[in-house]
Amino acid sequence: RKVGFAIVGLGKYAQEQMMPAFKESKHAKITALVSGSPEKMQKLAKEYSVDAKNCYSYQNFDSIKDNPAVDVVYVVLPPGMHAEYVVRAAQAGKHVLTEKPMANTVAECQRMIDACRKAGKKLMVAYRAQFEPFNLEAIDRIKKGELGKLRYVTSDHGRQVKPTEDKADEWRVVKKLAGGGSLMDIGIYSLNAARYLTGEEPVEVMAMESTDHSDPRFKEVEDQIHFTLRFPSGVLATCTSAYSIETVKRFRAFGEKAFLDLDPATDYYEHNMTIGKADGEMKPSIKEGNQFAAELDHMAECVLENKTPKTPGEEGLRDIKLIMAIYESARKGKPVKV
Ligand code: NAD
Repeated sequence: RKVGFAIVGLGKYAQEQMMPAFKESKHAKITALVSGSPEKMQKLAKEYSVDAKNCYSYQNFDSIKDNPAVDVVYVVLPPGMHAEYVVRAAQAGKHVLTEKPMANTVAECQRMIDACRKAGKKLMVAYRAQFEPFNLEAIDRIKKGELGKLRYVTSDHGRQVKPTEDKADEWRVVKKLAGGGSLMDIGIYSLNAARYLTGEEPVEVMAMESTDHSDPRFKEVEDQIHFTLRFPSGVLATCTSAYSIETVKRFRAFGEKAFLDLDPATDYYEHNMTIGKADGEMKPSIKEGNQFAAELDHMAECVLENKTPKTPGEEGLRDIKLIMAIYESARKGKPVKV
């Protein structure tokens, strides 16, 4: 059978990437919608053949507990709202998939984990890059030793945030909804990549922030933040995130014998790998895959086979803990042990 998903928050990412991906998913289907906009919901309900009785507002959302067509609630709201809807979904007896960043604070992440545990339900954080073929290939090649001993990683994620032009960017510059600036939204890809490429957890972080607060976009949230992570093996990762540059989404892992570059690394559809060795560079041929559908299928399989998700709540919490340490280091101008 296909696992039924309720989509909570019918914004840009839900409409443009995730909802279309259900069509390519083997085990997941959309069975319910949750929105504050009845007109938008009606249009999407028609497009995705969702019954009117399976359309909820934020007010009557909790009655989803009586709907057997919904197995999983997928929260695609601004991060400041994730905790409330994840907890309400768990209390309604549903499994939960929530977007990244998991929440604004460590305490909220813990509350989400506790609520799902208490309800005996799965909690997964939607780290799509961990289901994307080029990223999986990069992890595999590093693990197999193709680069020799790994020495360091660099990763950059940046773009121009445009709150006056793009509605989806409006909440991204409001601290209460976004939790922070570029680090929470896209720097998290650099951070998560540093962790999955090394396969280690950092023990120390050091960061610097630079924000022009006279820019109206940056009244509440940071623009650029650069951070270095120290891993137990001695590997360092130097990462950047910025909201005031042309788009970049890349990483490079440097080993004693070779480097592995992915640029773009965390895009939606296009990825490009280069391996550089003493005798020159090569581009391995890797087939693009639908990471969104793969992520949905993974969640569905976890429900069907009673498995723990590859990116559970604890994975989201780890990143939020590190993000808080990065902010602390930038604030204090000192390294912070984690
Ligand atoms: P968006 O603004 O387009 O979508 C947010 C939705 O929440 C909208 O439908 C909006 O109407 C609704 N909403 C309800 N109450 C709201 C409130 N008080 N303030 C603002 N919006 C409210 O944004 P988006 O880019 O689709 O992001 C949604 C989520 O998806 C975020 O958690 C974001 O981090 C995540 N996201 C993930 C990826 C990814 O690649 N994994 C990409 C983009 C966004």
